[in-house]
Amino acid sequence: MKQVAAVGLFSGGLDSILACRMIQAQGINVFALKFVTPFFDDHLLGRREEYCAEILEKYGITAQVVDLTRGYVELLKNPKYGFGKNFNPCVDCKIFMLTRAREMMDEFGAAFLITGEVLGQRPMSQRRDTLRVIERESGCEDILFRPLCAKRLPETKPEREGLVDRARLLDFTGRGRRRQMELAAEFGIREYPGPAGGCILTDPNLGARIDRYYRDRVPSGDGVLRENDIRLLLLGRQFLLPGGYWFILGRNQQENERIQVLAKEEDWLLTMTERPGPTGLLRRPGGTPSLHQPVGDGLCRLAAGLVVRFGGKKEGKRSRAEVLARQAGKTKQMIVEPLEDSRFIDWRF
Ligand code: SF4
Repeated sequence: MKQVAAVGLFSGGLDSILACRMIQAQGINVFALKFVTPFFDDHLLGRREEYCAEILEKYGITAQVVDLTRGYVELLKNPKYGFGKNFNPCVDCKIFMLTRAREMMDEFGAAFLITGEVLGQRPMSQRRDTLRVIERESGCEDILFRPLCAKRLPETKPEREGLVDRARLLDFTGRGRRRQMELAAEFGIREYPGPAGGCILTDPNLGARIDRYYRDRVPSGDGVLRENDIRLLLLGRQFLLPGGYWFILGRNQQENERIQVLAKEEDWLLTMTERPGPTGLLRRPGGTPSLHQPVGDGLCRLAAGLVVRFGGKKEGKRSRAEVLARQAGKTKQMIVEPLEDSRFIDWRF
């Protein structure tokens, strides 16, 4: 008999782990798709193989990391079903992911799709009527089912065709996690992530920043959406300096390194030379920077003043320090005082 296969949407959270395991327990091969964008799990792009090996070892699930960035950046411009409490377009996001998963089914010889969704668990995207909309708009009607709450939903094709035993599916509903935890214990799964999601779009502060970028293209300045801009937008302390220059300061080593990776040839990178402190990235407005258009010394000194303001102290005090600014082989060195808070309070972005 031909081996049945299914594709699962895999967030990495407990519900998606359980959905995959339940279907595997019915003798079906499950291929779990871990979708990533700049707004969730972006870091996995740098460690795809390691991540998939971890998931296989911990949960016995074969996963694949899939980058959705390009289409997702466009989707955020005007999601058909709008946004949730913050800048999270959950309904369109699910439609987008399922559409992509459906398109990938042939690659895995999959007969159907599964998700770890639970009816009534989330107000925006897991209501009964919304689940139907998501199925319809993604072209997944009748081939998508949700093992954790399937008994509360109409039968689907894989159940009717006997590929899946409906009697072994579940009827979970609502936000509680007790039954999920019991099921995890039955599967011998002891380690799993907590319920808090890792989606930046649900963060009120960052959501507002991304919203502004999409609405007014602040701080990119020229109306063009750029993946690199979006990735920078999610980092550190942000300022709009006089003249519309964009300045980003890392808050820790990890952010400093990320800023260096995202810097383009035309950006200026600023660091203190003698004390630890943030890496600063200075970018011209408008997205059509010229390497030959100099950034004025005054502006560079303002940015350097911010680096020192947020940099390490000397003998417990903020004090002047040397800052090195680098751009495409050019360097400027300057001694600057920490910038007074009153100067930059209105520049925060
Ligand atoms: S929380 Fe984020 S990742 Fe999850 S459905 Fe909403 S927008 Fe998509």
